[in-house]
Amino acid sequence: MTDVIQLLPDSIANQIAAGEVVQRPASVVKELMENALDANADEINVIIKEAGKALIQVTDNGMGMSETDARMSLERHATSKIKTAEDLFKIKTMGFRGEALASIAAVSQMEMRTRIGSRDIGSQLEVDSSEVKLQRPIACSTGTSVIVKNLFYNIPARRNFLKSNGVEMRHIVEEFQKVSLGRPDLNFSLFQNDLASYQLTKGKLTQRIVQLFGKNYQSQLAAVNESTPHLKINGFIGKPESAKKTRGEQFFYVNNRYIKSGYLNHAIISAYEGLIPKDQFPFYVLFIDIDPAHIDVNVHPTKTEIKFVDERTVYAIVRSAVKQALGAHNLSPSIDFELDVNFGKEQLHKFETFSEKDYGQFRTPQTKTSPEDIRSLENFYEKVLQNDPSRKIGNDELELTFQSAANAPEYGHIGFQEKQQEQTKVFTFQLHGKYILTQVKSGLMLVDINKAHERILFENYLNRLSTGKYASQQSLFPQTITFNPSDFALLEDIRDEIKKLGFDIEDFGKNSIIINGYPPDVGDQDEKQVFEGLIEQYKIFKSELTLPKEEHLARSLAHRSAIKPGKFIGGEEMNAIIDNLFACKTPNFSPDGQVTFFILDLNKIETLFN
Ligand code: ADP
Ligand code: MG
Repeated sequence: MTDVIQLLPDSIANQIAAGEVVQRPASVVKELMENALDANADEINVIIKEAGKALIQVTDNGMGMSETDARMSLERHATSKIKTAEDLFKIKTMGFRGEALASIAAVSQMEMRTRIGSRDIGSQLEVDSSEVKLQRPIACSTGTSVIVKNLFYNIPARRNFLKSNGVEMRHIVEEFQKVSLGRPDLNFSLFQNDLASYQLTKGKLTQRIVQLFGKNYQSQLAAVNESTPHLKINGFIGKPESAKKTRGEQFFYVNNRYIKSGYLNHAIISAYEGLIPKDQFPFYVLFIDIDPAHIDVNVHPTKTEIKFVDERTVYAIVRSAVKQALGAHNLSPSIDFELDVNFGKEQLHKFETFSEKDYGQFRTPQTKTSPEDIRSLENFYEKVLQNDPSRKIGNDELELTFQSAANAPEYGHIGFQEKQQEQTKVFTFQLHGKYILTQVKSGLMLVDINKAHERILFENYLNRLSTGKYASQQSLFPQTITFNPSDFALLEDIRDEIKKLGFDIEDFGKNSIIINGYPPDVGDQDEKQVFEGLIEQYKIFKSELTLPKEEHLARSLAHRSAIKPGKFIGGEEMNAIIDNLFACKTPNFSPDGQVTFFILDLNKIETLFN
């Protein structure tokens, strides 16, 4: 009989290994973000299209890679992080198995651009199912940018197995939260289908919590701080009354690495005993610092589970630290929740409404609106807003409604979210391709999508211009533009600002530029058109008004790239628009002073029927 055993080709071996490391788009996001952390980046930008099924881009300003390293990084078991077996016991980095990039490259079309600070030129690599298609020198900024396109396109069974965009996006957001919560000392951003979901600036842990979960968390936190010879623990826990019925806001980090540990979770929950009902989960973000020799990180391929050498001691310290924090906030855990009279019906009710839904970015529960609902709503609004003269709301009435809404503090930044939190059912609905309809506490809110988006973009752009922090999405097919000499001179004048907006441009011969990258939130428009539009609009605005050039630029780009009427947008996008609008400094007006939203008061609606 002939010999039958063969070594698997690398590409197949990598695909098999990928099964462990890359389960879904969120795994890619996690691995790439962790690589960026390991590269000592302090600015990490994530761009997602179609819940990561079409595109995932992670850009960092870290140490970058040399040409050879860039090529090597794609090999399986290629890592710069361990050299000897002993190193395994001193791991301080996120990754070390050297499998992530090889695995991702095996199941996608990947592009990498990277440059180390000491070199003038970087390198670009294009890989398709593990096969390197292109490697060449390229001008790019210091750091690394990895683009992963069409994940699992070469393994249809895996691709079909992916869940809906909503579900996959939630996983991505969770990974993003885990990483960014673990490093409040770094800047992060997450863009989803051209909309900024998060733009996090470095600061204290409390600030990061608020940036990620909303302002109402501010008053809900109790600090944990405990130092023993064995380990240090610090962070924040949620006060008992903020506990929720859904899990998902429990974060545990050991030596800055997010970990899952049923055992430690139990230690924390047990410290809340008697303070929260059995079926509720407290919020927590806790960091343990412990000598790496006392843990074994390598027990799980995706590295979220670890083993402590001395589990019981760790358990006891964690539990006592949490108890102490609860006690320090006068929340003595001596009452039995089930029996105590203080927790009467009202209190229970409060618990329920609080946890009924956790409102935050991406977390507005989407109740399905039936076609009947939609039709009756449509009829209703048509009547209210245009046709029926007897029911028509006069302009000044709307004005009044709006005025009161704008003045009421409850529609300020957090107020809106808090109000939402109390509701059980919130729908969003796009009306005539132009407006978002949604329920708010006092009635019904109508948001003008285009104007609201313009306001959001304007403030984002202004912010980028003033902080110098921006994200840039790589052009897949960099285009060149040739200007007339006077426009080119104008461009010279605003070149720095244009870069800060997120356009990565380079000179390309006389009066010409090439666009290598563009702001991730300019929408699915042609980059060249956006750029030309920006310059055109800038000239128009500049001739009309004298404002600082930053403001003109921010206004121009916002005006050109805001979502245009008639474009269908999904539920998540609508929620993102509402969230982002109310996070603006001036949510009520578009940059040119037009109203962005109206609130139709319940009382007013009532009168329409009487
Ligand atoms: P691991 O992180 O486990 O070492 P990866 O496959 O994720 O394995 O990465 C392989 C190697 O590529 C890393 O050890 C590192 O040297 C290099 N690398 C990957 N991503 C980056 C990045 N964003 N910046 C700099 N170097 C990187
Ligand atoms: Mg890695």
